[in-house]
Amino acid sequence: MAEPITAQERLDKIVVLIASNVVAEVCSVYILRADGVLELYATEGLNREAVHQASLRVGQGLVGLIAAEARPLNLPNARAHPGFTYLPETGEDAYNSFLGVPILRAGRTLGVLVIQNKSHRTYLEDEVEALQTTAMIIAEMVAAGELEAIAQKKTGLDLSRPIHQTGVALAEGVGLGHVVLHEPRVVVTNLIAEDSEAESIRLDGAIGRLRLSIDDLLASGDIAASGEHREVLEAFRMFAHDRGWIRKIEEAIRNGLTAEAAVEKVQSDTRARMLRQTDPYLRERLHDLDDLAHRLIRELMGRQHGSLSSELPQDAIIVARNMGAAELLDYGRDRIRGLVLEEGGPTSHITIVARALGIPLVGQVDDIVSLADAGDAIIVDGEAGEVHLRPATDVELAYSEKVRFRARRQAQYRRLRTKPSVTKDGIDISLQMNAGLLVDLPQLAEAGAAGVGLFRTELQFMVALSFPRMKEQQAQYKQVLEAANGKPVTFRSLDIGGDKVLPYLRSIQEENPAMGWRALRLGLDRPGLLRTQIRALLTAATGKELKLMFPMVAEVQEFVHARSLVEKELSHLRKHGYDVPETIRLGVMVEVPSLLFQMDELLTQVDFISVGSNDLFQFFCAADRGNTRVADRFDTLDVGFLRALKTIVDKAREYHVPVTLCGELAGRPLQAMALLGLGYRDLSMSPASLGPVKAMLRTLDLGRLSARMLPRLEPGHPEANIREFLLRYADDTNVEL
Ligand code: PEP
Ligand code: MG
Repeated sequence: MAEPITAQERLDKIVVLIASNVVAEVCSVYILRADGVLELYATEGLNREAVHQASLRVGQGLVGLIAAEARPLNLPNARAHPGFTYLPETGEDAYNSFLGVPILRAGRTLGVLVIQNKSHRTYLEDEVEALQTTAMIIAEMVAAGELEAIAQKKTGLDLSRPIHQTGVALAEGVGLGHVVLHEPRVVVTNLIAEDSEAESIRLDGAIGRLRLSIDDLLASGDIAASGEHREVLEAFRMFAHDRGWIRKIEEAIRNGLTAEAAVEKVQSDTRARMLRQTDPYLRERLHDLDDLAHRLIRELMGRQHGSLSSELPQDAIIVARNMGAAELLDYGRDRIRGLVLEEGGPTSHITIVARALGIPLVGQVDDIVSLADAGDAIIVDGEAGEVHLRPATDVELAYSEKVRFRARRQAQYRRLRTKPSVTKDGIDISLQMNAGLLVDLPQLAEAGAAGVGLFRTELQFMVALSFPRMKEQQAQYKQVLEAANGKPVTFRSLDIGGDKVLPYLRSIQEENPAMGWRALRLGLDRPGLLRTQIRALLTAATGKELKLMFPMVAEVQEFVHARSLVEKELSHLRKHGYDVPETIRLGVMVEVPSLLFQMDELLTQVDFISVGSNDLFQFFCAADRGNTRVADRFDTLDVGFLRALKTIVDKAREYHVPVTLCGELAGRPLQAMALLGLGYRDLSMSPASLGPVKAMLRTLDLGRLSARMLPRLEPGHPEANIREFLLRYADDTNVEL
C-alpha cells in the first residue's frame, strides 16, 4: 500500500495479489459512481479492455445485487442464479463459481469485490473473510480520494456525491461550513496485524475497560433510576456482554485484522444489514451498537471522547446523532455555523439552546452521521429544514447569496441598535427581549434591548442534569441581574409541566398536558418548589428591583396565593437579618382567556401584566400551538383575537397598570404593527427580532395607523380583513416590513 504508484496501478496489483492468494482465476473491483452505476475499475482474469467500460446498475446482475443488499454472495454456479447478467465485453462466460463482497465503509456501499473460478466450488468462510478484509482496504482508498484521479469526470464517485436530505427545521438561520462529527469516527489506518494472538489480548483488555466504564456510568449518581438514559445504558451493557458480537470480532482478528479494524469491520457489516430495517426499535438498537463500537475503537486506540473546540474549523457545522444542551455550550459559540441531528424535536433542550444561541438547526435527518465525513462541505437550511451535504456549486452559490443577504440585513439592524425606538410620529416604544439562559444576555447590549421583558426561568432547569438547588438558582439570577447592568429584568416563575418536562422530575402522563398540571398550578400544589425559587430570586436581587410574574394564572385568587408565598419568604428573610430587594413588583402573565373576564379584579391586585400571546392564542382558538396541523389554522390577526388583545391593553390603561406583550407575535413586524395600532407600547421578543421590529416602527406613522385600523375592529365594518389592510397600509406608506 505504501508504494509510490498510481491508484490504477495499485488496484491492478491488489487484484493480482488476491487472485493468487485465494487461488482464483478472476478477481475484479467494481466501484460505485455518483449516478448509481457500478463500474469495473480493475480486473485480473477478465478482459482488460473492459476496465472503465463494463458497468452495471445497482440491483442489476450479481454485482448489482451485492451492492444493493450489502451482503456477500457465495455461489458454486453463478449462472443458475436468477439475478445473473452476462456482460459479453468481460468474457466471463468461462467461469462458474462466484464470490462477491461489498466494499463497505461505515455501513455504506462504495463498490463490490469479486473472485471467480471455472470449477464449481463453494468458497470457504476464510476466503470470504479475506476478501472482506481486502474490501476494507479498498474502501479506505476510495474514502481517501485516491480514486478520484481515475474516475470519470462527468459522474464522479458515489462517496463524493452531493446529498440532499430533508429533516425538520428546528432553529432558524442558514449556515454554510464544514462537517465536524460530534463523536468523530476514529479512522482506523492500521488494518493488518502480524500477531493475531496479541490482537486478541488487546481486544480482551479493551472490552474489559469498556464494560467497566459502562458499569461506572450506570452506578454514578447522575443517571436517574429510570428513564431513557438508563435504558440506553442498560442496552449498552447488554451488547457489551454479547458473545455473538465478540465472537465475530475475534474471528476477524484471526483472519489477520488488527483489533480495531476487526471491530470496524463487524460494525460495518452489521450496519449494512441493519440499515435496511424499517423497524424503529431495531434502528434504535443500531445506534446503540454504533456507539458501542465507537467506544471500543477509542478504547483500543487510546482516544478521548468528544472533539476539542480548539481543533474546530472556523465554519464548523456539528453533525451528531443527538447531543445534550450542555455539550453544545461546551463547543463555544464563535466557530459554529450550524447543527444537524439525526434526532431532536421542536421542544428538545438542544433546540432551545440552539435557538437561544442563534445557531441554525435541522433535526431528524436520517443517517446523516454515517453519510457525512469530517471536513465535508455542508449547508444547513434552518428555514426550509434542509441539509445539503457536499453541495453542487450552483447550490452553494445560491446559498452564499442568501447568507450574504441575511448578513446585510443584520448589519442594517445593528446600525439601528443605537437609534431611538420611536415611531415616525414621535411615539416612544419600549422594545425588550426574551431570554432564558446566561448565553442570551450579551444580546441585551448587542441588540440594543431596553431590558429583559421575559426571563423564562425553566430553561435552567431544562438543561440541567438534576434539579438546580437554591444556591444554583440564586447564582444564575444574580448573574442575570449583573449582566443586565441596571436594565429591568422580568423573571417568570417556573413554567414546567405540560410539554416542558424535566428528565429528573417524575412526570405524570396527562391527556392534555398544555391544559394540565403545569406552571403556577404545580407551583402552588408543591409550594416547596416555588418557595425555593422565590427565595433564590429575593436573595439574588438584594438592593435592586425584583420583577416577578406568574405564568398560567386562570383566576385572580391564584395570584393572591402566589403573592402570599412571596410575602412569607420575605418576612422570613427579614426576620433572619438577610438583605432583601429594594423594590418588589409582582405581575401576572395574561395567557388564559378566563382572565379577560376578571380584568377589573386582576388589575387592582397586580403591579404589572404581560400578555403571553402564544398560550393565549392557543387557548382562545382551542388550537394546540405545537401541533403543525392546527397551529397555523387560525390567524392571530383575525378580528376576534385582536379585540381580545385590545380589551387587555384598554383595561390596563384604565387602571394605570403597565402592560407588556411577550409572545412570538411581538417579534413579527406585521403583527407588531397591529399591536402598536391596538395601543401596546411595550413589546418583548427574541433578540433576533429586535432589529426587524425597530426598522418597522421607525418608519410607521402610528397615529394614522390606529385611526385607520381601529374602526375596522368594530362589528359590521365592510373591510374587516386586518391582515390585508396592514399589508396594504405598509405598502402604501412605505413601512419597512
Ligand atoms: C406565551 O405563552 O406567550 C409565552 C410568552 O410564554 P411561553 O411561550 O414560554 O409559554
Ligand atoms: Mg406561555
